[in-house]
Amino acid sequence: MYDIKALYEAESVQDAIRLLQEHPKAQIIAGGSDVLVQIREGRRAGAELVSIFSIDALRGVSYDENEAIRIGSLTSFSHIAASPIIREKIPVLGEAVSLVGGPQIRNIGTIGGNTCNGVTSADSASTLMAWDAVVELHGPEGVRRLPIQDFYIKAGVVDLRPAELQTAIIIPKAAYEGYFGRYIKYAMREAMDIANLGCSVNAKLSGDKKTIEDARVAYGVAGPVPMRAPSAEAIARGRAVCRETVDAFARAVLDDIHPRDSWRAAKAFREHIAVELAKRALTESIERAGGVIDG
Ligand SMILES: Cc1cc2nc3c(=O)[nH]c(=O)nc-3n(C[C@H](O)[C@H](O)[C@H](O)COP(=O)(O)OP(=O)(O)OC[C@H]3O[C@@H](n4cnc5c(N)ncnc54)[C@H](O)[C@@H]3O)c2cc1C
Repeated sequence: MYDIKALYEAESVQDAIRLLQEHPKAQIIAGGSDVLVQIREGRRAGAELVSIFSIDALRGVSYDENEAIRIGSLTSFSHIAASPIIREKIPVLGEAVSLVGGPQIRNIGTIGGNTCNGVTSADSASTLMAWDAVVELHGPEGVRRLPIQDFYIKAGVVDLRPAELQTAIIIPKAAYEGYFGRYIKYAMREAMDIANLGCSVNAKLSGDKKTIEDARVAYGVAGPVPMRAPSAEAIARGRAVCRETVDAFARAVLDDIHPRDSWRAAKAFREHIAVELAKRALTESIERAGGVIDG
C-alpha cells in the first residue's frame, strides 16, 4: 500500500541535516498528511524519507528574547489553536488553522508541513503572510531567516536548499502588537474542504480608533502561491475608518491578485469573492480593534 524504500528517523535538527546529506534523494516527513497521501497515490513510489516527527524541540509556541512569537515547525494545528499565546496575541491564526481538514488532520498536520508544501490553498500560509511572519531554516551552512513571502518561489516550490529543514515560524512583536485580524476561508463545504479562496486581513487603528494606521491583506488561491495585495494596503494606510475606505481597499485588491480558472471556481468568480472577502475581513478586523464603521 505504501511503497517506501527507507525511513530514517532523525533525533535532532543536526541529525536530520546529516541524514538529508547522506541520503540526498530523501524527503522530509513530519505529520505525513501530505506525504503519505502522495505515496499511496503512487506519486512518490519508492520514496526515501527522513522523519523529523520525534524532534520535540521543534514543537510548541513560545516567546523569544525579543517577544516575537516562535512557533516550532512541528507544532500541530490543534496545538496552535489551543496555545494561550496564540489566543491572546494572534487569535486569527488559531481560527485559520481550526479550518484545516477535520480533527484528525489538525492533530497530525503541522504548520511546517503546511508551509513547506508550497501550496497556495494552505490555510496557515496566507494568515502567516498577513502577520509578516519570518521562516527559520537550518541546514549545513547554518541558520537562515527569511520573510515568508520570499520563501514561496512558485506553485509547490519553496526556498529550501539541499539538506535544509524549516525549524520555526516567527512573528515579530512589531508585526502583531496592536493588530487585530480576520481570516475568511471560502470553500464549497464548511469542513474537510480546501479553500476556493482564503483572505486574511490584519488592521491597526490609531489611538482614537478613527484612522487605519496600517492594514495587511493576504490571499490563498489568488495566484500560484499565497500573496499579499500591496495596492489595497497602500490605499487603506492613513485613511479614515469608514465604509468608503473599506470599499476602496477591497476594490484595489484586483490590482494585485491573479486567480485562475479551475474546476473548483472560475477566475471571475474568484475575483468577485476576493473583493467581498476583503471587505468583510477588513470590516471585522476594524471592529475587533474597537473601531466603528458608519454607513
Ligand atoms: C483529508 C485531508 C484534508 C486536508 N485539509 C486541508 C485544509 O483544509 N487546509 C489545508 O491547508 N491543508 C489541508 N490538508 C493538507 C495537510 O494536512 C497540510 O498541508 C499539513 O499541514 C501538512 O503537514 P504535515 O506535517 O502532515 O506535512 P507532511 O505531509 O509531513 O509534509 C508536507 C511537505 O512539507 C515538507 N516538510 C514538512 N515539514 C517540513 C520541515 N519542517 N522542513 C522542511 N520540509 C518539511 C515535506 O517534505 C512535504 O513536502 C488536508 C490533508 C488531508 C489528507
